Amino acid sequence: MDMKLMAIDLDGTLLNCKNTISKINADAIRYAQSQGIEIVISTGRSFFDAKSICNKANISTYIIGNNGSSIHNRKAEQLYLKSLNKNEVEKIITWLENESFYYEVSTNHKIYSPIHTREILNVELERSINTNSNIDTGKFYQAVEKQFSQAGFTFVNHYNEIIEKDEDLLNILAFTFNENKRKMGFDYFSSIDTLSTFSSADYNFEIVNRKASKGNALQKLAQLLNISLKETMAVGDSYNDISMFKKAGYSIAMGNAKEDIKALCDFTTKTNDEDGVAHIIYSLSA
Ligand code: CA
Repeated sequence: MDMKLMAIDLDGTLLNCKNTISKINADAIRYAQSQGIEIVISTGRSFFDAKSICNKANISTYIIGNNGSSIHNRKAEQLYLKSLNKNEVEKIITWLENESFYYEVSTNHKIYSPIHTREILNVELERSINTNSNIDTGKFYQAVEKQFSQAGFTFVNHYNEIIEKDEDLLNILAFTFNENKRKMGFDYFSSIDTLSTFSSADYNFEIVNRKASKGNALQKLAQLLNISLKETMAVGDSYNDISMFKKAGYSIAMGNAKEDIKALCDFTTKTNDEDGVAHIIYSLSA
């Protein structure tokens, strides 16, 4: 197989359930690079958050951040940026505030969330626990903890502070434990044609510039590196990976991906907790 560029998602893909990159996966990435394969981490997370995760695992790769809004090279230089229009962000935030959503706004430096929306999550969590006795509360707390542990995460007192920052606004993530509410928000923003709306995990949806997607960013990076899309591979587990599955020459679903994601892909590897990424890398050179 002639493969020169491999795009790898983070959550549910390269990261295990403890949100870290295993030594086996990190070794596999360094091995692929030593064989002349370019690696790009392609994630819904912000560049600086993804970079900090890679640094901890001692790997250095290209990074597609915020669902395709940015591309950085191994020296952390920005090669590409597609941000949201500020007036549009204000409209989105106002809607989310009116509908009582917890949300986060990612810039190219930080992740901001108004402090009062944290209380919304606590209330939703309590309500879910009270109305559903067989609910997996551990999974809920884990999901919340993951949001707050992102690098650059900062609470602000009022959403105006976010709009007034002199920073590019890249990604808005809304998060709720109420599935009907999540779907209502997802459907509302999906109907606005200047935006792109994805879900990257249970309980969330994310909004970016219409032109931003993991697939478009992969295409852009392949162009910059003079690599044909036929010689690219994408590995992922969720709906925000579909755009890159469609662009890449080879698409690989994680063993832990949902069945409809697996059905779209050329091949399914092992799960994220079984080092599925390392498994696919070593099977390429076998
Ligand atoms: Ca994922």
